[in-house]
Amino acid sequence: MSQRKKLLAGNWKMNKTSADAGALVREITAAAGQRTDVDIVVCPPFTALESAGKMLDGSAVRLGAQNLHPEKNGAFTGEISADMLRALFVSHVILGHSERRTLFAESDAFINLKVLAALKHQLRPIFCVGETLAEREAGATLRVVQTQVERGLVGVAKEQATEVAVAYEPVWAIGTGKVATKEQAQEVHAFIRSLLTKHFGDAVAQKIRILYGGSMKPSNAPELLAQPDIDGGLIGGASLEARSFVELVTAAAAAK
Ligand code: PEP
Repeated sequence: MSQRKKLLAGNWKMNKTSADAGALVREITAAAGQRTDVDIVVCPPFTALESAGKMLDGSAVRLGAQNLHPEKNGAFTGEISADMLRALFVSHVILGHSERRTLFAESDAFINLKVLAALKHQLRPIFCVGETLAEREAGATLRVVQTQVERGLVGVAKEQATEVAVAYEPVWAIGTGKVATKEQAQEVHAFIRSLLTKHFGDAVAQKIRILYGGSMKPSNAPELLAQPDIDGGLIGGASLEARSFVELVTAAAAAK
């Protein structure tokens, strides 16, 4: 049995007003708020963090943000710092999501600064990597993922590495309904673990959770979550409704 507890994180993206977020959190905590056999994180938009955080009080569900800026404060119009997130009791932060990489031109070097800033402020990064369809078709998947992992984790100390969860999200599977097969996902997850082993040593690498993301839903989750190196999921669409998200939590618990 894996020594890694499964982690399920819901990436709500640019969805839910503060009031909508409160309602969704209420449903999730009513159904799964006291579960400790799976780590559960919800990541609402910035504007709903405070209301969602209040609703999570007293439950085991943790609060995540979808981004941060690496600087502490200053003239960065529209940005949010790690300190600001900590003040709202945020514990996790999604970094390097493919939508940030593609739509907002975030580089590996910039994402690395964010990872380091998060760790410095006791925020746990959910650090995303993954190839595009063109890269997969060109046979470049492992090379692309290796570059993203190595550049994104530069300067992360061995002692802090277990705070990071890596999310493997093939870009072609995000929001498309096309899910990686369990073999495709396991191959890349095992490869990522081998990179982590090279970088941090086997004992640390065995503790780092590697999540799958990309059209995960209750129907395909059990076989993905049963793979030896798939330690949970980063969920977009299926996290926007309590019923499907809670079903995924149940699937993760059953896959232990
Ligand atoms: C995501 O954006 O992180 C994601 C995995 O989205 P979806 O589940 O909708 O594919």
